[in-house]
Amino acid sequence: MNATVSAVELFPLRIPRDVPYLGPLEEDNRPNPKGYIVRPGNRTVYPVFDQTLLVRVEASDGTVGWGECFGVVAPQVARTILDELLIPFVIGRSPHDVERIYEDMYDLQRVRGHFGGYALDAIAGLDMALWDLRAKLSGQPVWQLLGGLRRQKLPVYVSGLPGATKEERAALGKRWIERGFSALKFAAVVAAEGEVAEIEAIRSQVGSAPRILADLHWRYTALEAVQLIERLCEYDLYLAEAPVAPEDLAGQAHVARSVKTRIGLGEEWRTVHEYLPRLQAGCMDVIQPEMAHTGITGFVRICELAQAFHCQVMPHATINIGIAQAASLHAAATLANFVMHEYQHTIFDRNKQYIRSAMDCRAGFFTLPDGPGLGVEPTEEALSFAFNQG
Ligand code: MG
Repeated sequence: MNATVSAVELFPLRIPRDVPYLGPLEEDNRPNPKGYIVRPGNRTVYPVFDQTLLVRVEASDGTVGWGECFGVVAPQVARTILDELLIPFVIGRSPHDVERIYEDMYDLQRVRGHFGGYALDAIAGLDMALWDLRAKLSGQPVWQLLGGLRRQKLPVYVSGLPGATKEERAALGKRWIERGFSALKFAAVVAAEGEVAEIEAIRSQVGSAPRILADLHWRYTALEAVQLIERLCEYDLYLAEAPVAPEDLAGQAHVARSVKTRIGLGEEWRTVHEYLPRLQAGCMDVIQPEMAHTGITGFVRICELAQAFHCQVMPHATINIGIAQAASLHAAATLANFVMHEYQHTIFDRNKQYIRSAMDCRAGFFTLPDGPGLGVEPTEEALSFAFNQG
């Protein structure tokens, strides 16, 4: 119980994958020498492999905690921030002070303007590992320390339908519904014939009952977004995600006021300070916090703030090996305003071979991991994908 942090070790991982995230590459789309691509019409950079950054904290009694930083691109950046700056300030401290440590880490660089981005990604993985360690030292699951369980099974939506044509993607959606899932999200960037044709194809395959969500990838002006969402609502769109530019707070609020379905925002924000003005302006009905950006401390604070604005939570799920996913489930299982969790099947189902955990996703629900702490650890094989240079 009195153990302190004695060592922190970092593992940037690069795991090869057959088909890049979001589906097969367009014919003339070649990765650059670093292995990165940009999808037509998307503007956002992705790798053709999976990348992440694991954090291993060890206590003076030998107990180990694991965390996972957002590391989709350039995981070397968060690693350097941790190595050069944060880790020496954590050695010798009690993992039971995890929320105080989160605030201290944030304070170290706030007046230099590092209150978001990679600086917070670094804090997120460290925070997660400290929560895991604290819970293991207490002999309790993390959800217990977060105030108590509301649900053992967490409803999900299936995220992404990777197929070459809209007919293939709609058929894939139908197969998920037949397997007991009740909500699907399609990605605008791979809807080559447009979002309206995409939802029409999916709706015709799955029938009227399933919820259909659309990730619009920040692509539209507020006016374009309102016009598009009105047309998608003819096919009973359940939620429109990220319709306008992330900086366009007035546009976000205009869209949310103008349409007849839910607006979901927030996968790119990391602290209550980024959420607060959007909550005050009524920019969204649903927040989508990403655990690998926020850490457990930040995630819970954001969701509780949203609750005060009667805003619901559908957590985001980025490319990760499952440690950030487990942390997100632990936190989500305790929330009053949780609705459903994103289920990135092309990531989770593939990468779960690299973790030891009882966590799984079947027939429409995530099940929580067992045991004390987060209940998830990387395998030796996962750690074999660690790289030091480049
Ligand atoms: Mg998204």
